[in-house]
Amino acid sequence: MEVLLPRSLDEALTMKAERPEAIPLAGGTDVMVDMNFGRLRPPAIIDVSRLGELTSHREDNGKIYLGSGVTYATIVREMAAFKPLVQASRSVGSPQIRNRGTVGGNLGTASPAGDALPVLAAYDAEVVLRSRARGERSLPWQTFLVGPKKTAIAPDELIVGTSWRRVRGPGSFSKIGTRNAMVIAVAGLCLVVDEDQRRVRVALGSVGPVIIRASEAEENVSAALATAGSWDDPAKLLADQSIEEFAELVAAAARPLDDVRGTANYRRHGCKVLARRAISWALSERRMPSWL
Ligand SMILES: Cc1cc2nc3c(=O)[nH]c(=O)nc-3n(C[C@H](O)[C@H](O)[C@H](O)COP(=O)(O)OP(=O)(O)OC[C@H]3O[C@@H](n4cnc5c(N)ncnc54)[C@H](O)[C@@H]3O)c2cc1C
Repeated sequence: MEVLLPRSLDEALTMKAERPEAIPLAGGTDVMVDMNFGRLRPPAIIDVSRLGELTSHREDNGKIYLGSGVTYATIVREMAAFKPLVQASRSVGSPQIRNRGTVGGNLGTASPAGDALPVLAAYDAEVVLRSRARGERSLPWQTFLVGPKKTAIAPDELIVGTSWRRVRGPGSFSKIGTRNAMVIAVAGLCLVVDEDQRRVRVALGSVGPVIIRASEAEENVSAALATAGSWDDPAKLLADQSIEEFAELVAAAARPLDDVRGTANYRRHGCKVLARRAISWALSERRMPSWL
């Protein structure tokens, strides 16, 4: 196996154009596991972990850009304003995995259990891809993630980053697993409240072949907040029944299977519990905003 060590993004894109079968390696926390288990034996690897162009994050005019090579540890350290992303990052693996693992790698693997992915879905993020021949293009997250472990990336492309519009409002990421750390989620949920668009957004992980947005639940609770007058005055409470209805609709959006980690019924129940908690946290945070 050849290991290619580009010194710049341009060089990496040239290598990928010339060797489309070469597998990019960022933190290696998925790639090396697959190689160790004999599931992956690529003829060549392109190590993108040393490319400075991929390891920065910035905000321009309310638009966030997160380089594909930014690690979970860096997100926890430097991106406190993005609470759901920090919560998801903090929940990934162990300190060693968070020091190496990247959001770009989570996107590249495209597992429905990837913890960063429900957050990107709730942010309505785009995935930024680049090739030497065609330059840069951005795909909405749901166009990029086409199936379990399948993405719309072209063979000569690299993931250079992801971007989203900053959302003003509270939010959270939480997940259920058999223990608190080093576990693949049985269900994961990200909820964000977009105060400017008067919309609640909810995305689910680990409960379907891909990341799922619970659109009907989003519509329903956003309308209930309008009816309660809560968008204008967060002190106006949402009826318990509306919260329950929201949780039910989130659970109904899940498309889980029975597997070794949990039954479909348990996962659906988990979504309901996560949804009820997430909306309750968000509503109490709206009454005492820490995100302003
Ligand atoms: C012990 C352990 C615990 C874990 N716990 C969790 C967890 O709790 N939650 C979770 O979500 N994940 C977990 N993972 C999985 C893994 O850490 C994450 O998916 C991580 O985000 C992968 O990032 P990476 O940089 O290591 O990716 P890599 O392994 O380097 O790459 C992953 C995939 O992305 C592709 N890729 C990487 N960078 C690019 C790029 N720039 N352009 C194109 N393709 C690219 C690679 O070719 C490969 O297909 C765990 C893994 C281990 C070993």
